[in-house]
Amino acid sequence: MPAYVYTCKDCGKDFTVFITIKEYEAGPKIKCDYCGSDHIERKITRFFAVTSKKS
Ligand SMILES: [Zn+2]
Repeated sequence: MPAYVYTCKDCGKDFTVFITIKEYEAGPKIKCDYCGSDHIERKITRFFAVTSKKS
């Protein structure tokens, strides 16, 4: 699942949203994790493999 990183223009914090591409294309209403503002801007997304499963 891709991670979309947003910056909140109100509180200046970054937060990551995990949604599918389909959900993203549907225009989800994403709000700031910290202050709930929808005055946000998407940052460049980095895809990274989740390889944390070390058994
Ligand atoms: Zn905020």
